[in-house]
Amino acid sequence: MPITKAFAAASATSALEPFQIDRREVGPHDVQIEIAFCGVCHSDIHQVRNEWGGSMYPMVPGHEIVGRVTAVGGHVKKFKAGDLAGVGCMVDSCRTCASCKRDLEQFCEVGGAFTYNGTEMDRKTPTYGGYSASVVVNEDFVLSISPKLDLAAAAPLLCAGITTYSPLRHWNTKKGDKVGVVGLGGLGHMAVKLAAAMGAEVTMLSTSASKEVDARKLGATGFGLTSDDTTFKRLAGHFDLIIDTISAPHDYNKYLGMLRLEGAMVLLGVPPAPTPVAATSLIFGRKTLSGSLIGGIAETQEMLDFCAGHGIVSEIELIPVQRVNEAYERMMKGDVRYRFVLDMKTL
Ligand code: NAP
Ligand code: ZN
Ligand code: ZN
Repeated sequence: MPITKAFAAASATSALEPFQIDRREVGPHDVQIEIAFCGVCHSDIHQVRNEWGGSMYPMVPGHEIVGRVTAVGGHVKKFKAGDLAGVGCMVDSCRTCASCKRDLEQFCEVGGAFTYNGTEMDRKTPTYGGYSASVVVNEDFVLSISPKLDLAAAAPLLCAGITTYSPLRHWNTKKGDKVGVVGLGGLGHMAVKLAAAMGAEVTMLSTSASKEVDARKLGATGFGLTSDDTTFKRLAGHFDLIIDTISAPHDYNKYLGMLRLEGAMVLLGVPPAPTPVAATSLIFGRKTLSGSLIGGIAETQEMLDFCAGHGIVSEIELIPVQRVNEAYERMMKGDVRYRFVLDMKTL
């Protein structure tokens, strides 16, 4: 089995360090990708540090993977060597359950194969993510990346992009809708760009006053500082949709007060601890509190094509893989503008 260089965490308290993994040989339906860039998602930190429980070590994180195809199996139809390709949060699913048949593989009823910190569908072989030199993935879970997009800046589309695109589409975001985006990090900045491209009137809701200028450059026309209580009064009953990307526990009730009649708030952030929600926060105004998990493979391709059409990529800070531990520390302080991307040449 081909030995592949990687960066891994040995435990919940270890720093990420150089490591070697076995990748499988290229099977008839597989695509082998030489990884050029991999984005750093806050989910990588939650999982490396076992904040959600059940983490498996050694862990090679990374689910915002882009690169070039180096080999394909005999039955592969959609890719050939030299093509640009991407891999997101999933590498396989059962293909036959009701969710998979609806192109919602992220909700596979038997549990799909996540790109890392999981197993292949045999439920034995561990999966290793994109902080590595190459990956081998079934072609059905490989995405096509337009050469029009800057490749490094396109990497975060594979998670931050689809995770924000999917709820915007599901809640039918259209011209003139008032959309609030909570938390200006990796997901938040993609939500602003995508909602603005769909014609929405976007307001950034942030704890960081210093991010206002950037929020407006990204396409927001309004800004609310959430450490200031007058923001919640000023924007009471304002939004059709609120996209919440905060990675730490916070009071949802305050944000629900900014929804209009029958508005919806969608949780994307996965804080490690639960937060109480008062029934009255939802009852008055028949409001909806919902959640959303990445997006299916077909919708991920649709999002990538939408981004190619609108010239949308992530705002990135490209760093050598050896600086990933420092990137984690900065993300824990909300100090990210707006996605770290690892240059895998440096591995
Ligand atoms: P990130 O880049 O670290 O951004 C999170 C932002 O949240 C920060 O920049 C900060 O924005 C705000 N924030 C952080 N701590 C806060 C606190 N204590 N109180 C208030 N605001 C705080 O993270 P990300 O990669 O965008 O991921 C965000 C969350 O989404 C994570 O929990 C991640 O696991 C989750 N996620 C979910 C999915 C899904 O499918 N649902 C997919 C990917 C990621 P401001 O400075 O603007 O306040
Ligand atoms: Zn992610
Ligand atoms: Zn399934």
